[in-house]
Amino acid sequence: MGLLDPIAGFGVTFKTFFKKTFTEAYPAGPKITAPRYHGRHQLNRWPDGLEKCVGCELCAWACPADAIYVEGASNTEDERYSPGERYGRVYQINYLRCILCGLCIEACPTRALTMTNHFELSDFTREDMIYEKHQLLAPLLPGMEAPPHPRRLGNSEKEYFLGLPETKPMPADSNAGLPNAGW
Ligand code: SF4
Ligand code: SF4
Repeated sequence: MGLLDPIAGFGVTFKTFFKKTFTEAYPAGPKITAPRYHGRHQLNRWPDGLEKCVGCELCAWACPADAIYVEGASNTEDERYSPGERYGRVYQINYLRCILCGLCIEACPTRALTMTNHFELSDFTREDMIYEKHQLLAPLLPGMEAPPHPRRLGNSEKEYFLGLPETKPMPADSNAGLPNAGW
């Protein structure tokens, strides 16, 4: 060990002493995750509260861990859960199997399924680790209404989607004027 080595060592200590600390108060305070963190899933809604899921099961087929179970059903005019023909009647994610890889959200054609930053996925029983549709559905925001209810954004399916604020025609130079409804 050279004579200057201890001085260099203390130099590092001294420099670090004035650096901003990374200590987090978790679990006393919230834990900040990365913006694109893959946490618990969410089943999204359209602005009137109807569900985006169409019960197509593509997410379940894409899942490498066989963690998703979906059963689709047809909407009726008296009992409507999504603006189109079909909706997800049963939707379950088994978090004992899920590896939070995100392949399911890539497969979803309607962007019904996304992932949140919520990572506290633990419970006391195996049954409680299977999340049901009502636990996965996005909360109702102001202006939304819990399904079943008629389409509030247009009478027909076509009117409904054209009426969405996000689906208004895009500028001429953008992707051939395709709607951008988060699909
Ligand atoms: Fe399956 Fe991956 Fe989706 Fe989990 S995140 S449900 S493992 S596809
Ligand atoms: Fe289909 Fe998406 Fe619903 Fe899965 S979440 S059943 S992929 S619409």
